[in-house]
Amino acid sequence: MALNEIESALNDVRQRIAKALQSRAQSDNHCEPRLVAVSKLKSKEYVIKAYECGQKHFGENYIQEMEEKSRDAEVLEKCPEIKWHFIGSIQRNKINRLLNTHNLYMIETISSNAIAEEINKKLEKTGLTLKVMVQVNTSGEENKSGIEPKDVTSLVSFILNNCPNLDFVGLMTIGAFDHDYNEGPNPDFQCLVDCRDEVVTNLKLEKKLELSMGMSNDFEHAIQMGSTNVRVGSTIFGARPVKS
Ligand SMILES: *Cc1c(COP(=O)(O)O)cnc(C)c1O
Repeated sequence: MALNEIESALNDVRQRIAKALQSRAQSDNHCEPRLVAVSKLKSKEYVIKAYECGQKHFGENYIQEMEEKSRDAEVLEKCPEIKWHFIGSIQRNKINRLLNTHNLYMIETISSNAIAEEINKKLEKTGLTLKVMVQVNTSGEENKSGIEPKDVTSLVSFILNNCPNLDFVGLMTIGAFDHDYNEGPNPDFQCLVDCRDEVVTNLKLEKKLELSMGMSNDFEHAIQMGSTNVRVGSTIFGARPVKS
């Protein structure tokens, strides 16, 4: 996709989000779905262009790439209110770089007590708090990261009780890529909804939790099922190069 096509692609996605929102349950409407533009493997020019079209939230999968883009002089100058979401897997030896990201808004992929604890410890030193989501492996595929659905309550409870510098806001899933929507609702999204309901009940939470689900091929379905955070990459920025 050429840079000058991003504006219309972005507007198209926004319209599709608004339309999908009309057909979802009232009870899910405590939070407008947030569009996270996934810019992984795309150069900073794409980020700047989308930002100039009003996009504020961006998602990245690779710690080093996000840290570098976020600290790029031109990005700093032209995108002062950018909000970075980390949506990739977290290696413990890269947590310093992760937290060195400028304008880091949310980490969506916490999937163990150890990682939560480590990030919390580093944040305590700086006095900052950070929004986090717990990533759930709803499809049970071995190559997908995330915690198993049965362990979600325990991890969330750990974060709430032991990680004061983490602001737990909700759950995230990627899910299987091959769901056929002719067969009905996506079981991964249903699983995340069920996990959310279970955590809220088990831990007697009063705060409404967010759900991060839905990508280019299924964000409208995800919104209909209650997603509050969709992560859309290729529909906005075009096909990605293969990671080297
Ligand atoms: C790459 C990626 C996306 C965006 O995928 P598209 O299909 O290009 O929209 C969303 N979420 C995660 C976790 C990703 O890795």
